[in-house]
Amino acid sequence: MRAYAQQDHGHDHHHDGADGRHGCGRCAESATERAERLCQERGLQFTPLRRDVLAVVAAEGRPLGAYDIAERMSGQGRRVAAVSVYRALDFLTEQGLVHRISSRNAFVSCEHDHGDGASLVFLICRSCGGIDEMTAPAVESALDATLAQAGFTPTSRILEVEGECGSCRERRRREG
Ligand SMILES: [Zn+2]
Ligand SMILES: [Zn+2]
Repeated sequence: MRAYAQQDHGHDHHHDGADGRHGCGRCAESATERAERLCQERGLQFTPLRRDVLAVVAAEGRPLGAYDIAERMSGQGRRVAAVSVYRALDFLTEQGLVHRISSRNAFVSCEHDHGDGASLVFLICRSCGGIDEMTAPAVESALDATLAQAGFTPTSRILEVEGECGSCRERRRREG
């Protein structure tokens, strides 16, 4: 099992601002730079709206809904409609730059080059709202066998597991 900790970007990655509104500028920057390059390679338009949506999602580091994204982008005379955010999210999801977390109807950014068909496992912490993305080849082959047996063709293979993350469990143990 290969773990891609969402937090493991080479810097401390806690987004626990008191107002819950501050983002991680370094994550946002590296995500948009990577996306820009990728869109250029694929001959796609990386519009300012798409860039802003990705920056907000990447800075958050945890699943964020379209309305929350729109709200973070609005203000100072700017009003961003959720429908525009959804359209940008569709594009970003198709390009593998963000993933949709169905159980939360929310989105997280992805900076892993795992390719289109990879089966992904998301570990969602119910305490801190954090999320880890993993690829799990063992799960993938077992799932493939089960699907083949059922004669079922998947359009996506994304598993979402809810629970408690290691650091929340650790904190709870320390606090007794
Ligand atoms: Zn991913
Ligand atoms: Zn947690």
